[in-house]
Order: sequence, then structure tokens, then C-alpha cells
Amino acid sequence: MPRPINATISLDALRHNLSVVRRHAPRASVFAVIKANAYGHGAMRAAHALVSAEGYALLELDAAVRLREAGYRQRIALLEGAFEPRDLVVAAEHGLAIAIHSQEQIRMLDSAPSGARFDVLLKINTGMNRLGIMPAEFGSVLGRLHGHPRVAQLTLMAHFATADDAHGVAWQMECLERLAAGSGLQRCLANSAAILRYPEAHADWVRPGVMLYGCSPFADVPAETLGLEPVMTLASELITVRELRPGDRIGYGGTFEATRPMRIGVVACGYADGYPRHAPTGTPIVVGGCRTRTLGRVSMDMLCADLSEIPAAQVGTPVTLWGQGLSADEVAAAAGTVSYELLCALAPRVPVIEV
Ligand SMILES: *Cc1c(COP(=O)(O)O)cnc(C)c1O
Repeated sequence: MPRPINATISLDALRHNLSVVRRHAPRASVFAVIKANAYGHGAMRAAHALVSAEGYALLELDAAVRLREAGYRQRIALLEGAFEPRDLVVAAEHGLAIAIHSQEQIRMLDSAPSGARFDVLLKINTGMNRLGIMPAEFGSVLGRLHGHPRVAQLTLMAHFATADDAHGVAWQMECLERLAAGSGLQRCLANSAAILRYPEAHADWVRPGVMLYGCSPFADVPAETLGLEPVMTLASELITVRELRPGDRIGYGGTFEATRPMRIGVVACGYADGYPRHAPTGTPIVVGGCRTRTLGRVSMDMLCADLSEIPAAQVGTPVTLWGQGLSADEVAAAAGTVSYELLCALAPRVPVIEV
């Protein structure tokens, strides 16, 4: 028998979550963000389920090429554009849209093969200070790209740093509107948080990521409240059940000590499967349909769960690590991270079941 762990990916949930994007941003076209192997869900699988999206956005060139080769005709955008001149040759060959976020990339474009013409997303730094050309350079850059022999189409792109918290998007929107006013260019701005919270930021194209996968971009709003459905469910089973006496400890470092007689279960799931090693004692976990807590340190291939209140649990009892019945957001919060990181970390050794 194979090791009892798997990740179920629900294509219906993906489609449902896209419909939530549509409900919030009915007039915008959608770039479904499928970077990082669709946040661990499988880029091809996600693209297939989200085929009604007007475009896909990612940053891995090889995955973008595979989408084209699979026959997808939508706009496919490389969110970080070219990393080296050769990338432009491949992008041109496959009709990929490219972000341009720096002067170096403009120089690459200048020396791209003649005949190549790109769909360009011009990324502006409106305050996140990661990628993007500075507002002060915007006029001259626009001058260079307008009518550039290698540019077929130009869209403005910006990214929000605080759409998920109280700082909001207004401070970045002001900068953008000032620059974009009168340019007549289409704009592509909103991530999941801005889609859900700031209609004024929807513009022409939106870029939902995490919400498509059924997780909340907000620390204080559960995905369920947003009408989102979990796409990935990471499940396993108990492979051992044992009784502890007061004073017995669990796992590496013996960080959890029983203070009374208790029953625990060992779950076939560890950090080599993508479960966060930093999840402390008390992280929520579902065993046999009952919510309980993890105990002690997560190890590479196993973790332990408290069965004190689940007398029916035995070897073979199903366990949900996250997904249907236990939000990845909650597990992530307990581990001091965000669901994005959990989903992306799903390890290749975990078999995937598509439903
Ligand atoms: C990842 C990413 C997104 C999607 O963000 P979510 O918070 O997952 O919706 C949108 N735009 C850019 C540029 C990104 O890198």
C-alpha cells in the first residue's frame, strides 16, 4: 500500500472561485495568476479549469511555453518579463506578453530580433518599491515605447502593497492615476485583495491569484465569508495510535509533555510533504471529521495529533491537514505564515488526485 497521503484538487472549486472574481469585477478581463505551478495546484490543471479566463499570468517561461503548446490562445503574460535577451526570442516565438519593469529590460527590447513585436505590460513602481519604473521616468519611458518597432500593444501595470490591510490602495492609485491620465492605455492593477475590496482599482484587467485557490488574502476575513471554496485538500491517515502517561514527551526535542494520560496519533505527513515545520503544538488538524490539535514538532515525514477527545480514532482514520473542512488560512496563521506559502510548498512526492 502506498503511503497514505494525497492532495485532492477540485476543478469545480477553481471554476467557482473564478465566478467570484467575475461577480466582484464584472467589467474587467481576467489574468488568472498561475505562477509557482498555480500556487502548488498544477499550472496546466489550473489553466484547464480556468479556460474561460481572458488570460494567464505567471513568471516561468517554460510553463508559459507549455501553455501555448497545449493550444491556449489567451493572453499569456510573463509578470517579470525577460531575465535575459534569449527570453525575448522565446516570448516572441510563442506570442507571450512581457512585463517591462526596468531600463535593462527596455534595452533588451531595443535589441530584440527584428520582426519580433510584443504585447508589453509596462510596470510602474507606485510605492511597493520592488519592481517597476519610477514615476519620474514614466514620461520618457512611455515616449520610448510608444511607436517602438518591437511594441505591438502597451498596457500599464502596477501592484498593490497594502490592498489586504488598513493602508488600502488609495495612496498608490493616486500616483497611478496621475501618470495614466490622458495616456489612453489600458490598466492592469488589482490582485485578489483589491478585487474583493476596491472596485475603483479593477480597471481593465485584474490579476487574481490566491482567491482562485480558495484562500483569503485578508488576515481577518475567512475565505468562507468571501464565498470562496478551497481547491486543495491535503489529506492523510493515522499510521499509529498510542497512549501517553503523564511526563511522556513527543517527537524531536520533546517539546510537548503530557501532563495527564492521553491518546495521540501519528499522521503520515511532515515537512517533506509541504506541511510547515514551524507549526507549533496547537495547530488545528482534523482527525476522523473532528477538529483537534497537533502536538510537538513536525518532523520530515510525520506529525502527531491529540486524540484525547476522539476515542473512535484508530490506525487508518482519515486526517485533513488543510482544505475542505479546515482552511489553509487557519493552519498558516497558526504557523505564522500565509496560506500562499503552504499551498506553494506542496511537495512533488505528494500524489495529486484531480476531481
Ligand atoms: C502573485 C501576483 C498576483 C496575485 O496576487 P494574489 O494576492 O495571489 O491575488 C498579482 N499580480 C502580481 C504582479 C503578482 O506577482
